Amino acid sequence: MSRPVRVRFAPSPTGPLHIGGVRTALFNYLFAKKHGGTFYLRVEDTDQNRFVPGAEEYIVEALNWLGIPFDEGVGKNEKFGPYRQSERKEMYQQYAQQLIDSGWAYYAFDTAEALDELRKQLEAEGKTFIYNHANRGTLDNSLKITAEATQERIANGAEYVIRFKTPVGETLHLNDIIRGDIKFDTSLLDDKVLFKSDGMPTYHLANIVDDHLMETSHVIRGEEWLPSMPLHELLYKAFGWEAPKFAHLPLILKPVGNGKLSKRDGDKLGFPVFPLEWKNADGTSSMGYREQGFLPDAVINFLALLGWNPGTDQELFTLDELVQLFDLERVHKAGAKFDPDKNKWFNHQYFQREDNAVLAKGLSHTLIEKGINKPIEDVTRIVGLVKERATFASELWNLSDYFFVAPESFEEKAVAKQWKPDTAEILKEVADVLLNTLDFSSANTESVVKAWIEQKGIGMGKVMPPLRLSLVGDLKGPHLFDIIELIGKDETLKRIHKAVDTL
Ligand code: GLU
Repeated sequence: MSRPVRVRFAPSPTGPLHIGGVRTALFNYLFAKKHGGTFYLRVEDTDQNRFVPGAEEYIVEALNWLGIPFDEGVGKNEKFGPYRQSERKEMYQQYAQQLIDSGWAYYAFDTAEALDELRKQLEAEGKTFIYNHANRGTLDNSLKITAEATQERIANGAEYVIRFKTPVGETLHLNDIIRGDIKFDTSLLDDKVLFKSDGMPTYHLANIVDDHLMETSHVIRGEEWLPSMPLHELLYKAFGWEAPKFAHLPLILKPVGNGKLSKRDGDKLGFPVFPLEWKNADGTSSMGYREQGFLPDAVINFLALLGWNPGTDQELFTLDELVQLFDLERVHKAGAKFDPDKNKWFNHQYFQREDNAVLAKGLSHTLIEKGINKPIEDVTRIVGLVKERATFASELWNLSDYFFVAPESFEEKAVAKQWKPDTAEILKEVADVLLNTLDFSSANTESVVKAWIEQKGIGMGKVMPPLRLSLVGDLKGPHLFDIIELIGKDETLKRIHKAVDTL
């Protein structure tokens, strides 16, 4: 019988969460929800040198903002707690001991300096140093001395690490849900450090022990962890535990050029690679999706398609749809190129679905700052008229400013093209027609002006573009008579007269 689905996101709190990490969290979330399972957050903070204050809080806030909260984690349904590895410290020692006792691990006393020296010597000969079956017999470890001698050295305060004793010449048959069957020769592995004399486990030991104790059914993580999979499988074997199933997600690649997407790509091309803004230690900050005006659903939808697709052309999915459709078998092996334009395209799509009244409230803040007073119903309508051209809420003001303030200038090219010798006279007459129009609704001013144009026998082209130019300052904008209704009679006439006087 297969185990209940329990998957984890296990970041190390070494800084803000990179977008690749967010994608890993998302795929774990989707997989858990699809199978009615549990998605938990485990904080892998055993490497105290790399610990960055605030990073854990950032990760939690980011997952919540994105709408993919964890079911278990620090302070939440702590069924298998603690969920911070530093708080589980005491637990790991016994497992390291278990491996020593069963002959799967040994103490190594080599100093960092001695190993460095060896490394340098070999490098000078064009070789690389690895601590493994080939040289472990010649190095300073417990394999060469008796158990008593080992205990004595430890009792005398010798610094040590515990290393895994990798079996020699075995072929491992590994299976990855995404990559299929992988054969691996254990002789190629080094004897990784599992436990340090400061009492802290390394990533490998802590990760395996916790995945076991927390009953993890599937390990879904980035491709960069694929090289660790043989060791991890061996550790499960050494402990006699059932290993979880593995799935290594493809890399997220740079938009241009080769290699992994990095923060620098974002800085260079002006897009965020972090979900939330992050304050760097040097006082600078790195931009976040949230602060740049991205909508969480849009970010999720975009990320879901980085390395996965449901096999159809559909691109827009709600989170529920993603949960229904998601399938690890359909995740690609090849890296997924990060396309910042596509990212914006998704935001544009989701932005269109935002409630105009809500967006209007946001725009009102800008209006208040600028000392502009406009009824919220009007602002809501204006948002509805210009939103189609916006990808972010921050663009609404620039797209709609002429609804609130008269244009200060008139776009030169448009003037050159549309402002003819008889334009001023025609517009003066239009102004008179509008002056005498009582019902200033869009539909009515449109029919009045159009009837007048017809009766005069002049073409629409002689009236509409210059009229727009007078009211907007340019040839852009939504339906002209909607603008007329929203700016009102006084303002419409004022703007026409100003254009006539200036141009
Ligand atoms: N702590 C590791 C990381 O930072 C977790 C890798 C894994 O999922 O096993 O990504």
